Amino acid sequence: MKTSYFYFVLFLVTTAITFAQENTPIRYTAHNKGKFFISWGGNRESYSKSDVTFTGKDYRFTVADMRAHDKPKGWHIDYINPTKMTIPQTNLRLGYFFSDHYSVAIGVDHMKYVMTQNQTAKINGYYPNRGSYDELIPERPDEVVLTEKFLTYEHTDGLNYINTEVSRHDDISKLFKIGNTDKIQVNLTEGVGFGVLYPKTNTKLLGKERHDYFHVSGFGTSLKAGLNITFFKYFYIQGELKGGYINMHDIRTTMSTDDKASQDLPLFKGQKIAKKPDYKAKLDKVFSLYIRLKYSDANGYCKCISCNKIHFYKDIQNGHYMSRRYMSTRFDENNCRPQCVACNIFNQGNIQMYRIGLVNQIGEKTVNLVEVKARTSTNRYSDFEYKELIKYYTILVNKIKKDKGL
Ligand SMILES: [Zn+2]
Repeated sequence: MKTSYFYFVLFLVTTAITFAQENTPIRYTAHNKGKFFISWGGNRESYSKSDVTFTGKDYRFTVADMRAHDKPKGWHIDYINPTKMTIPQTNLRLGYFFSDHYSVAIGVDHMKYVMTQNQTAKINGYYPNRGSYDELIPERPDEVVLTEKFLTYEHTDGLNYINTEVSRHDDISKLFKIGNTDKIQVNLTEGVGFGVLYPKTNTKLLGKERHDYFHVSGFGTSLKAGLNITFFKYFYIQGELKGGYINMHDIRTTMSTDDKASQDLPLFKGQKIAKKPDYKAKLDKVFSLYIRLKYSDANGYCKCISCNKIHFYKDIQNGHYMSRRYMSTRFDENNCRPQCVACNIFNQGNIQMYRIGLVNQIGEKTVNLVEVKARTSTNRYSDFEYKELIKYYTILVNKIKKDKGL
């Protein structure tokens, strides 16, 4: 999972082990080597979409492109009260300059990650009692609604990234014509970090009892860039932008150790591995248009196969007699007819009436064959076949549109 976050550090104290001698004209802020620092601040995150896989004894499924957000508790006083550190999104860091320009630090970034509830997501896999969590979407067998009954998923206590960071620091005060850096100093900083993820994950899935303990779940790496303004030698405020990659392969989800989740994403947004074009969705679209045009009259009107109501071809859908989830009949013209939204979506396909309508058109025998074909054969299209079918139906669609003047 790629994360990017913004930090602000409310205060920082630096102390040098060896203090500069009284009589040296060199400013305290001219050198960093040997100084310690501690910082405390807050953060906001934005998360990229990520695929999350849930596995257990009787289920295994992946939610594709899960969306999530952070959970700030506002920008109030909690941020500077270390006893409340687990409440807001905070970061604590302790560091040491091993040279004037480089420091090493250990720290905890306490972030919060909350899956966006009730989003629609593609899902792949199996789980028991399908349909009993109000998660199914009629005629969209490869998608679910992530209802509370089905899945809640968050690392709110939190997504803790315990890491060590090496940073470079450069004094850029001169650019601002600052002479006395012991009064005010401006620094640029860049850093790279790595560490482990120690989240407390709150998940409820498929009605199972949830697991609420901290657990080492994976690792992370991060890069940062920041601007730091130091006041009176010892105090500073700092803003940082940080991006990272998190791989959590062992997330505890329920009280059973059989149950776990994994989450993982490429490093940077721009470099996310390009997804293959969704040929299936493309073919669905053009095939649907073809079916609706094929059965429409010269003015573009067609009848619902189940209830006979008449609609303009743009206001009706392509209804599948045998569900779309059967790939071998998904693009079978004998299995598809125009169908109104009411019948297709809200009346679960109005399947009895659909069958009667279909038998009237193509006969009992062919309908039986469609039923058998849907259930017994499996059809996986290659990219080549998809592309050819898309081409084929696009030509037909354009021809019908031209012929009927639509
Ligand atoms: Zn209808």
